[in-house]
Amino acid sequence: MSTFQAPKGTYDLIPPKSGVTLAVREAIAAPLKNSGYGYIETPGFENVELFSRGVGESTDIVSKEMYAFETKGGTKLALRPEGTASVLRAALQANLHKLGNLPVKLWYSGSYYRYERPQAGRYRHFSQVGAEAIGAEDPALDAELIILADQAYRSLGLRQFRILLNSLGDKECRPVYRDALQGFLRALELDEDTRRRIEINPLRILDDKRDAVQKQLAGAPMLRDYLCDACKAYHEEVRELLTAAGVTYEDDEKLVRGLDYYTRTTFEFVHDGLGSQSAVGGGGRYDGLSEMIGGPALPSVGWALGVDRTVLALEAEGIELELPATTSVFAVPLGEEARRVLFALVTELRRAGVAADFSYGGKGLKGAMKSANRSGARYTLVAGERDLAEGVVQLKDMESGEQTPVALVDAVNAIRERLA
Ligand code: ATP
Ligand code: MG
Repeated sequence: MSTFQAPKGTYDLIPPKSGVTLAVREAIAAPLKNSGYGYIETPGFENVELFSRGVGESTDIVSKEMYAFETKGGTKLALRPEGTASVLRAALQANLHKLGNLPVKLWYSGSYYRYERPQAGRYRHFSQVGAEAIGAEDPALDAELIILADQAYRSLGLRQFRILLNSLGDKECRPVYRDALQGFLRALELDEDTRRRIEINPLRILDDKRDAVQKQLAGAPMLRDYLCDACKAYHEEVRELLTAAGVTYEDDEKLVRGLDYYTRTTFEFVHDGLGSQSAVGGGGRYDGLSEMIGGPALPSVGWALGVDRTVLALEAEGIELELPATTSVFAVPLGEEARRVLFALVTELRRAGVAADFSYGGKGLKGAMKSANRSGARYTLVAGERDLAEGVVQLKDMESGEQTPVALVDAVNAIRERLA
């Protein structure tokens, strides 16, 4: 072991397990790429104010979990704790919304950072794949995103996940509800921290996981009863579109989510095999975010799915993904001359698109065959002096154990035919 270890709350992705993470990212991205979403990549850090204004000063993400720092030049930056604010910032900066083709649909994949108490499924560095549809108010767009996330999870074979759905209202009806809720909450027996929260972010209290708090919340006014007609109709249509698409969801009136920018549709994907860190992904509509960060009014909707927790969900369901074989052919040279010839053949195979690897380090036959076995290769190429003198290499089928000589000049074609 070296003197150093991965920092607290982080872990390394190591083969072969890292292949699962890659496959999960690809499985989540596939339905997006297939539905008009273009890939976007933004920096790992941003001006800290983008998050404090965008995500919200009163949220846990900004007030407790953000890695904020000042550069030597005095600029205040933060490692990105989430993707939406950055993606919207980038879209506005590039004027994508002015190209006359709304919504702008984007997807992303990357690392996010939150200073959290590390535990199973909760890390300080984690990865998400996300999607944002910017600049359109259309219930079909909200439904599309939920359907695509559902499709992604199903394509991985996941079954024990549930979709929780709610509407948070808009700038007309939410303030009225907020007032009513504050009035109710102020009369409760709550600790000082929670009392402070009543004034800055009362909806979050509905989400409080403590039993003592939840008990007192019985009889609290519910947003559902305060939704304006426009929000009600919008929500009803999202629900109908999901039902028509065969996507099952649960209405969860207490679903609030941790970010200030959500309006109307909000949803979360939870997995029942994960214990307390059960949220594998979440999202919603954020019609006011663009204006909060200095842009024009651009109603938008998006989600982010946690890759780490999705991998844990696969483990919880005992799902083993079929990962593509990394090596099809493994070359084992016996002697100096064979080393040169087989190395050239491996290069040729790779250029022809065949996944090939080579026994390095001057190993003897036994050690080299062990490497061939470990590589998972379907065929091993063995050649010694006598083979070369005859112009052949020995092609060993690792499944049947059968070995056949193949003419060296024709080896690439012969191997490609067998693999096809
Ligand atoms: P939680 O309620 O578990 O704190 P969250 O509401 O903070 O989740 P979001 O900001 O909505 O999560 O992020 C979307 C997804 O990213 C989550 O559903 C989860 O899968 C993943 N995620 C968030 N924070 C972490 C973390 N610290 N470690 C691992 N995954 C995370
Ligand atoms: Mg969180």
